[in-house]
This record gives sequence, structure tokens and C-alpha cells, in this order.
Amino acid sequence: MFLLINIYALILTQSLISAKGTIGELDSKRQAGGFDYQNTDAWKDEYPSCGGNNQSPINLDFGKFREVVDPRKLEFHGYNNIPKKISIVNNGHSLELEGHWPYNKHPYISGGPLQSDYVFKQLHFHWGVNNNEGSEHTINGQSFPLEMHLVHYKKDYDSFKDALNHTDGISVVAVFFDIQDEGSEGIANVLKNATSLLRPNSHVNLEPFALSTFDGITSAPKYASYYGSLTTPPCSESVTWIIPVTVLDITAYQMKTFRCLNFNHKDYHNFRPTQNTNGRIIYLFKQPPS
Ligand SMILES: [Zn+2]
Repeated sequence: MFLLINIYALILTQSLISAKGTIGELDSKRQAGGFDYQNTDAWKDEYPSCGGNNQSPINLDFGKFREVVDPRKLEFHGYNNIPKKISIVNNGHSLELEGHWPYNKHPYISGGPLQSDYVFKQLHFHWGVNNNEGSEHTINGQSFPLEMHLVHYKKDYDSFKDALNHTDGISVVAVFFDIQDEGSEGIANVLKNATSLLRPNSHVNLEPFALSTFDGITSAPKYASYYGSLTTPPCSESVTWIIPVTVLDITAYQMKTFRCLNFNHKDYHNFRPTQNTNGRIIYLFKQPPS
């Protein structure tokens, strides 16, 4: 019963917000970085990289993966560490989470296709209007309702912004979710204050939790990797994508909660269509035994 009341409250608040949606719409378009999901092909007019040859997302065709011989182990460090603070924002085109960890406790990834340590920056989500769409990457042409991006940048660069200017600057771990009766603990943590995040530019602090509450990311026995770009403008071609071959759980109710969040520009979804691979190779890494 509580769940039912909760979802009605969300839907009611959402309809109140949409009724006011047209006020200052052009202003909010400029403030939001000037892109929307209604015409993603037009992104390249303002952001030339979006028209490049190494764009993301792509379809991951299992039949064409090239298996890496004798790979180094991909390692997730500090994913069990609980941060001092977690803030989450509806940034107008996604729900984005950042954390502040104590000194030396900040999560990072290394090994596998990476030549250095890549420091965790933020995580965010992509979804659609129903369970048949939402993920940005597809597997053998199949979409999932939700895709989470854990964004990391190479520690050798001064900042995330600086890393965007380098082909090896960024590594994003992309994780698919599919509908199950029980959802991942991490998703429950993220959505705890969802009613405070319905409007673009609203943000709240969450009770701190470790990234490992998204159970299954660090233990996947295989993952795909390829060279691509950010999937939002400026579409910088600086991303080593890492896609664990696993699917995490989300409930139908949690998925509905994501869809109650309002975006800028009246966008009703936030996934970019798949881009041409232009001959890029997708590598398959099998985790060596530890
Ligand atoms: Zn993303």
C-alpha cells in the first residue's frame, strides 16, 4: 500500500511540474548545455566531435568479439569503501551521483585494457519510456530498460576536464539492468530521495553507501571493451569503454520511478541511438583467476 501511495504521489507531482513546463523553456535549454534527445543527429552542429568516427554507444555483436589472449586482470579498488558524502542531482538530462571519500579511500580501476589508474568521477543512468528501450549500448541488437555509466578519468591528468582532451583520458564502466522481482541494493540507495529530484537542477545528499552495493559489477567473469566517446555532448573521443558481461536487477516499480523524473527540453528519454562502429574492434576479456 505504501508503494502504491508513493508512486501516485510521484505521478501527481510530475503532472504539476509538466503543467508549468513551458515557462522559460528556451532559457533552460541554453542553461542545460544546449542539447536534447529529440534530434541527436544535430548535436554535431554545435559539438563537432559528435560527428566523429569513434562515437558511442554501439551495438555489441557477440559474434564479432575478439578475445584477448592472456589479459591482465581488471581490478576495482575501493569499490567497498563508504564515502563521507554522496550527492545526487537531476541535471536535466540524467540522474548523476558524486561521492567524497576519505583520503586514500577514493575508488579507482586499473588493469585489463587500462594502462594506468582511472579515478571514479561520477555515475549516472540512461533509460527510456518502457522496458523495451533505455540502454545506450545494445547486445546483439537487444536493448535493456536501464544502463548505468560509472565514469572514471586517468589519474595522470590534472582533472576530468583535462582528461577529455586525451584519447586515453576516460574509462566508463557500463552496466545493464533488467526487470526482476528484487532490485539491486544500489538502485534502492539511489532512489531513496527520488521525490526530491523530480525537477531538473534539484539535488539532495544521500546516506553514504559503497559502489559495491551495485552487486555483480566487480565479480563479472568477462567484459567487453572498445574505444569510443562520451554519449552526450561534447562527445569527446576519449573513452575506453568497459562493459561487464552481466545484467543487474531492477524492479518494475524502480524503473517507473526513474521515468517520473523530469528532463529539460521536454525530453522523455535520455539514450543516444547506437552509432556506426566504422570497423572498430570490440575486445573480449576473460578475468584470469586471482
Ligand atoms: Zn552516460
